Amino acid sequence: MVAKLLDGKAAAAAWEAELSAKLRGLPSPPKLVLVRVGDDPASGIYVKKKIEMCAKIGITSELVHLPENTSEASLLSRIASLNADKSVNGILVQVPLPKQIDALNVQKAIHPFKDVDGFGPKSMGYLLMGRPRFVAATPAGIMRLLQHYSLSPAGRHCVVVGRSNIVGKPLAVLLLQDDATVTIAHSKTKDLAAITKQADFLFVAAGKANLITKAMVKKGAVVVDVGMNKNRMGKSCGDVDFKPVSSVASFITPVPGGVGPMTIMSLMANTIKAREFQNQKE
Ligand code: NAP
Repeated sequence: MVAKLLDGKAAAAAWEAELSAKLRGLPSPPKLVLVRVGDDPASGIYVKKKIEMCAKIGITSELVHLPENTSEASLLSRIASLNADKSVNGILVQVPLPKQIDALNVQKAIHPFKDVDGFGPKSMGYLLMGRPRFVAATPAGIMRLLQHYSLSPAGRHCVVVGRSNIVGKPLAVLLLQDDATVTIAHSKTKDLAAITKQADFLFVAAGKANLITKAMVKKGAVVVDVGMNKNRMGKSCGDVDFKPVSSVASFITPVPGGVGPMTIMSLMANTIKAREFQNQKE
C-alpha cells in the first residue's frame, strides 16, 4: 500500500476561500492583536506567518512586541487594555513565554471572547463540556483536515501520542466528541508500539523525530504527524518516519505541508468567530 497524502496546503486553501467569502460579508474586518515577548527565533517566524496570513485573507492585525525582561504584571496590564479595547476582537500571546511569566496567568487574563488560541481555562472547559467556543488551532485544524478528506473517526480506534494542553489533550477530546474510541499515550506509556499498532487513526504530537516507525503502524491506518523537528541534516521533519510508514498507511500528512497550514487557518477562523462574539454577554 502507498498512502495518499493528506495535503494540508490544499485543504487550507479551500478553507481560506470559505473564510475570505465570510470576511467579505462583514461590514469591517476583525482585528487580531499578536503579543510576542522576547526574541525567541521560532516564535518570530510563527508570528510573522500569522501576520502574513491575516494580511492575505483580510484580517487586520497588530503586533505588540515586548522585551524579554517584561514582568508578568506588565504583560497582564497590557492584556487588560486589549480586553477593554472594543476595536480588538482576538488576542494571541505567542508561547513560549520568558521564565518570569506564568503562561496560565496570561491565558486566564485574556477575555474568554477574545481567546482565539483557545488555551484559556474557559475555552478548555467549554470544549470538555462538549460545547466548544474557541478550540486550539492545531487540533481544530486536524479535525478540519480529516473532514476535507471525508475521513470520519467515528467508531474507530484513535491513538493520540502526546498530552500537551495545546495539542494532545484537546485533540483527544475532539475525537471523543466525534464518537471515536480514544487512547492517549505519552512519555510514560509502556510499550508504545503495542498501543500505536492498534490505531485505525494515529495522531503523533511528541516533538521527537522518527518516533513512529513502520513497525508501529497498522496496515491501512490514517497517520497524522503534528511534530515539527529538524533532522540531522537540518531539514524539517515530523515525528513519523515518513517514507517507510507511507508504505503501510492509507493516508498520511507530509511535514511540512500537512498540519501546519491548517493550524494557521484555524486561527483565522477563530478570529472571525471572535468578531461574532463581540458585544455578547459572558
Ligand atoms: P509538548 O508540550 O512538548 O508535548 C509533547 C508530548 O509528547 C508530551 O505529552 C510528552 O509526554 C509526549 N512525548 C514526548 N516524548 C515521547 C515519547 N518518546 N513517547 C511518547 N510520548 C512522548 O509538545 P506540543 O506543544 O504538544 O507539540 C508537539 C509537537 O508538535 C512539537 O514538535 C511541536 O513543534 C509540534 N507542533 C506543531 C504544530 C503545527 O502547527 N504543525 C502546532 C503545535 C505543535 P509527557 O507529557 O509524558 O512529557
